[in-house]
Amino acid sequence: MMETPKAITPLKPVAHRGRMIAASGRRHVYQPENHEWRDRLCDRDSDGKLIGKDPMDIPLDVLMASGHPQTRAGVVVLRLREMHGVDIGEMRHDGFLGLQPSDFPKRLTTIRDRVCNACCDGNKAEIRRCAIYDCPAWPFRMGRNPHNPARGKNAGIDPFKNHRTAEEE
Ligand code: SF4
Repeated sequence: MMETPKAITPLKPVAHRGRMIAASGRRHVYQPENHEWRDRLCDRDSDGKLIGKDPMDIPLDVLMASGHPQTRAGVVVLRLREMHGVDIGEMRHDGFLGLQPSDFPKRLTTIRDRVCNACCDGNKAEIRRCAIYDCPAWPFRMGRNPHNPARGKNAGIDPFKNHRTAEEE
């Protein structure tokens, strides 16, 4: 099991800037830039597959130190553009995930509907389980802002109540 970093040193805000590292055999795997925080950001299912935690259940200091600071929707979009490689050269005016600039979210709470839906082809269970924890949209994939000072006051609301898989019930 991976150790949790002892000192909380905030990382640069993530934008899927990890690297490929050698794994078993001749295989290479992607290592996220905030991989030291994996066990604080994800659980595992019965098959050992990573499942992203609900960001509302992650302590704020952990969320911020793991490259997910308090931010604005426009800044998340900039980092998503970096993630998708559309801020350089001839591609700098292009959208990503089939989105056009007019589709980009204006509020953090619409990132799920605008970005994650396009990313997962509308599959709500996939969005809930997403373990791409170095994606800038990741803390907002539940349709809520975990940095909101009112966090926890609506703890009874489950945005994916009607989209749980049988396994999750
Ligand atoms: S958080 Fe996950 S589902 Fe949402 S855009 Fe990023 S990779 Fe896709």
